[in-house]
Amino acid sequence: MALLVQKFGGTSVGTVERIKAIAEKVKRFRDQGDDVVVVVSAMSGETNRLISLAHEIQDQPEAREYDVLVSTGEQVTIALLSMALESLGCSARSYTGSQIAITTDDAHSKARIQKIETENIRKDLDAGRVVVVAGFQGVTEKGAITTLGRGGSDTTAVALAAALEADECQIYTDVDGVYTTDPRVVEGARRLDKITFEEMLEMASLGSKVLQIRSVEFAGKYNVRLRVLHSFQEGPGTLITIDEEDEMEQPMVSGIAFNRDEAKLTIKGVPDIPGVASRILGPVSAANIEVDMIVQNVSEDRTTDFTFTVHRNDFQRAQEVVAQIVEELGAREHDGDNKIAKVSIVGVGMRSHAGVATRMFEALAKEGINIQIISTSEIKVSVIIAEKYLELAVRALHSAFELDQLPAA
Ligand code: ADP
Ligand code: ASP
Ligand code: MG
Repeated sequence: MALLVQKFGGTSVGTVERIKAIAEKVKRFRDQGDDVVVVVSAMSGETNRLISLAHEIQDQPEAREYDVLVSTGEQVTIALLSMALESLGCSARSYTGSQIAITTDDAHSKARIQKIETENIRKDLDAGRVVVVAGFQGVTEKGAITTLGRGGSDTTAVALAAALEADECQIYTDVDGVYTTDPRVVEGARRLDKITFEEMLEMASLGSKVLQIRSVEFAGKYNVRLRVLHSFQEGPGTLITIDEEDEMEQPMVSGIAFNRDEAKLTIKGVPDIPGVASRILGPVSAANIEVDMIVQNVSEDRTTDFTFTVHRNDFQRAQEVVAQIVEELGAREHDGDNKIAKVSIVGVGMRSHAGVATRMFEALAKEGINIQIISTSEIKVSVIIAEKYLELAVRALHSAFELDQLPAA
C-alpha cells in the first residue's frame, strides 16, 4: 500500500478511449490498495488551440484573462477521467486548482506554487476515493486563476507529491522514460534506468522537455521520489535520484539536450570601456527579455563585439532594443540570426574526466559543423550552431560519447 501521485500528459488523455484506458490503469492501483491522486493535462493540442484563440483577439493577450482561458483544457479532462473512473465502479472526485487551493504568486502564465491545502484531499483518500486534480493551474491569494507555464502539470504533480509526502510521483507520458537524448530525433537513443536530479535539471533547462524544469527543481528541493514512465506500456521507467554513485564510475556524458528556440544578436564595434555590458543588457532586461548566453570579445582597436542569445520569440523585440543601444553607445552596427540552435552534453561524470569538451568539438568538426558560441559549467558543455545542422550534431555527439543503443543481437 502506497500513496502515489500519478500524472498523465496530453497525449495520454488525448481521446475518450485513452481516458478510459487511463481510468482502468488507475483502478488497478486502487484495487491493489494504493491511494492515488491523479493529475491530468489538457487533451493533446487543446492548450495550443486555446492560446491561438487568444492571439486571434489580442497580440499580447491580457494576462489575467489568458490564464482564465488556457486553464480550461484541464477542467475538461479531470471531469472526463472522474466519470470514467466512476463508471468502472471506482469512486473518484475531480478538483480544479482553485478548489483545492493550489495557491500561487500572481505572475500570470508563469506562476509559482506557494502552498497547497491537503486536508480535503486526505479526506477523500480516507473515504476511498481517487482524487483527480487539474494540472497546470493555481489561484492567487486574491482568487485570480493562474497557470504555471507550458508543461506545468508536471510541477502540479510534484508539488502535490511533496505536500502529501507521497511515496512516489509518477509522470506517465508517451515515452517509457528519460532517454540519452530525444528518442524522436535519435533512433539509437537509450532509456536511462536512472538519472541524477542535477543532470535532469540541466537536461530540462537545456531543452529536453520531457519534464518541466520547475518540477525537477521542486522534486530535488523536497526530496520527492520522481519517476518517468510510459502510460500504456509496462516497464520500470526512469528514476530521478539523488545518489551519485562513485563519480569515477559515471559515464563522461549521460545525455544530450538541444533547443531550437534560440536567436542570437551581435553588436559590433562597441567602445571598450567599463559599464558597456550593463548599458547593453540593462535595456534588454527592462524590456522583459531573458538573456541566455553572453560573449564579449576584446579587440585591438579599443572596441569590442558583444553577442548574446535570447528566446526566438523575443528576437524581434530584442532587435528593436539593440538598434536603440547601438545609437546610444556609438557602436558600429548590429546583426542577428534566428536560425541557430543550442546543443549540450550533460553529465556529472564530467567533473572527474578531462578532455570532454575537446571530444565534443572534434566530433562536431568531423561533421564540418561550425561552432558559434561555447559555454560551459561543471556538468555541461553547450554550443550554438546553425539550426540546419542540429540533428546531425546530436547524432554525431550521441555516437562520439558512446550513448548509442547496442544493436539487437
Ligand atoms: P506530456 O504531454 O506527457 O507531458 P511531453 O511531450 O511534455 O509529454 O514530453 C514527452 C516528450 O519529451 C517525448 O515524446 C519526447 O519526444 C520528448 N523528449 C525530449 N527529450 C527527451 C529525453 N531525453 N527523453 C525522453 N523524452 C524526451
Ligand atoms: N496543458 C499544459 C500545456 O500544454 C500543461 C501540461 O500539459 O503540462 O502546456
Ligand atoms: Mg509535458
